[in-house]
Amino acid sequence: MGDEKVKNEAMEIMGLFQVLPRLIVFDLDYTIWPFYCECRSKREMPSLYPHARGILYALKDKGVDVAVASRSPTADIANTYLDKLGIKSMFVAKEIFSSWTHKTDHFQRINQRTGVPYNAMLFFDDEDRNIETVSKMGVTSILVRNGVNLAALREGLSKFSQNLAKIDRNKQKWLKFSQKPGSSERDKE
Ligand SMILES: [Mg+2]
Repeated sequence: MGDEKVKNEAMEIMGLFQVLPRLIVFDLDYTIWPFYCECRSKREMPSLYPHARGILYALKDKGVDVAVASRSPTADIANTYLDKLGIKSMFVAKEIFSSWTHKTDHFQRINQRTGVPYNAMLFFDDEDRNIETVSKMGVTSILVRNGVNLAALREGLSKFSQNLAKIDRNKQKWLKFSQKPGSSERDKE
């Protein structure tokens, strides 16, 4: 499938959802490209997974911001590759550094840099431990097995909507509780 076709399908998938994430965060190695960039040379010409570019273009068109969270120890190679692929300027934040925390510090920095709350973010990664840790922060997190693709995008957006509905239900429960007679602001007036 060409980039344009993937982009159109991604646009259609996004059209199915009333609310989209404000920010979608991607891991790099084995999520947007099929290799560890630390094992490669800067001189090589990298390639992305087949659907990655079309999805990024669709997100840009829809006005959904994108960011990178990678634990690669070779940020210089990663940045060179993003540049060579012509997608470097698309990301509003790029956190690329090795770390023993499973990306909690990456997400704290992304949150500080963008101001986007964790529950308005969607994250794609190929490692279980990152998915586990980051989802505990409140970020909807999707494990990808063969790189990010249209199926993963659909899964991610639908899980994001479900999580949002859960938050809404809890909010309403809380409101009901706080609006018991005598406890709301209006009652005090
Ligand atoms: Mg990875």
